Amino acid sequence: MKVTVFGIGYVGLVQAAVLAEVGHDVMCIDVDEKKVENLKKGNIPIFEPGLTPLVQQNYAAGRLHFTTDAQAGVAHGTIQFIAVGTPPDEDGSADLKYVTAVARTIAEYMTDRKVVIDKSTVPVGTADKVREVMAETLQKRGSAIPFDVVSNPEFLKEGAAVADCMRPERIVIGTDNKEVIEPLRELYEPFNRNHDRMILMDIRSAELTKYAANCMLATKISFMNEISNLAEMLGADIEKVRQGIGSDSRIGYHFIYPGCGYGGSCFPKDVQALIRTAEHIGYQPKLLQAVEQVNAQQKYKLTEFIKQHFGHDVKGKTFALWGLAFKPNTDDMREASSRVLMETLWELGAVVQAYDPEAMNEAQRIYGQRTDLKLMGTKEAALQDADALVICTEWQNFRAPDFDVMKKVLKQPVIFDGRNLFDPERMQARGFTYYGIGRGASI
Ligand code: NAD
Repeated sequence: MKVTVFGIGYVGLVQAAVLAEVGHDVMCIDVDEKKVENLKKGNIPIFEPGLTPLVQQNYAAGRLHFTTDAQAGVAHGTIQFIAVGTPPDEDGSADLKYVTAVARTIAEYMTDRKVVIDKSTVPVGTADKVREVMAETLQKRGSAIPFDVVSNPEFLKEGAAVADCMRPERIVIGTDNKEVIEPLRELYEPFNRNHDRMILMDIRSAELTKYAANCMLATKISFMNEISNLAEMLGADIEKVRQGIGSDSRIGYHFIYPGCGYGGSCFPKDVQALIRTAEHIGYQPKLLQAVEQVNAQQKYKLTEFIKQHFGHDVKGKTFALWGLAFKPNTDDMREASSRVLMETLWELGAVVQAYDPEAMNEAQRIYGQRTDLKLMGTKEAALQDADALVICTEWQNFRAPDFDVMKKVLKQPVIFDGRNLFDPERMQARGFTYYGIGRGASI
């Protein structure tokens, strides 16, 4: 099938690549000329496991095209995906300007019927807005070409995006027109063989499903972080508690890890956006507000430990930082806990020596001008002459470091671990002062 994807970010690029991989003919449009030029040269702008060969091979095979020419993009596909960003605006609501810009573009150039699929995460009612914008634009052209607007939210996880799109757990389709179901079944058929993963519903339910999913996941994290704070104060160990509750099949072990807060481009903005949606219709979303507040506070947990340990005097001290990305297997630093940590340490006059397996370029892009950030080539180099180690991301290769080397190169054997990678008793036996999240039993 001929498919057009507007927005070549984490969602658009991955979705386009997997659609091309199964044989669809996919045209990707972005307003970012540099990104498009780089992709044509085989330079992939983001780190996502498995993505580079997928893009390069499908581009070489002529099933994946990149352009900034929106008119050509609109002409290409019967199916037009909108996969552009929906960042928070000043009050935390989702800013729909990129989505409506694409809607306008499609209506401006379309010459035949299109199925417009909203893949971006958008508030309930956005499909109506897209429809309105398109109808107005068509009317201005004096045209009445028919079109459909479908909600098909994306559930991929950064760091596992290719695998998630190849084998989605569900394909949510929100539509008010039964006729579009068949082409969408055909589009997704290659990903739907093992069992039917398509969940059909009305558009508003599909739009809300995406927010409900992300808010539920964020709630699990904030819940665990709240219990971890209690564990710490009550002399309990959250890791024991986690295993204790995870063994209940109604709760399960997934996604109940305590830590130094959630980040990324989705949870923080989507929780905020649903709060604003609720407030706009006169509902006070107390639970969601608490989820956000707990998370905001949790991002200061490590700096609180640091201040406590160093008697509030960290001016001139150097901190090794392992992990800049908001989670492992990505280079994405949007809303990462590492950013709050570094910015707080800098305010206190400290220097940060940071290492991340994939996010170094991103850190350079965001903070490259700072003299109080040193980006180091290896995790060992980051430790050199540092007063302590801080861990913000649970990358696999941080999990079993050489503790003897670590002890030698750190000025003091102190670790502030925001992801509970190590066992407090063992760390104590190795001669470290170890701070984890909610490890009250060991403090
Ligand atoms: P992104 O910022 O990585 O990419 C968005 C792209 O859209 C950029 O390349 C930008 O240049 C482009 N763009 C902006 N305006 C455009 C226009 N008018 N025409 C063409 N391209 C345009 O964003 P992302 O992380 O891929 O997220 C996209 C959407 O998907 C968001 O709504 C997000 O909430 C949602 N989502 C993201 C994830 C994730 O893990 N990143 C997962 C599920 C859903």
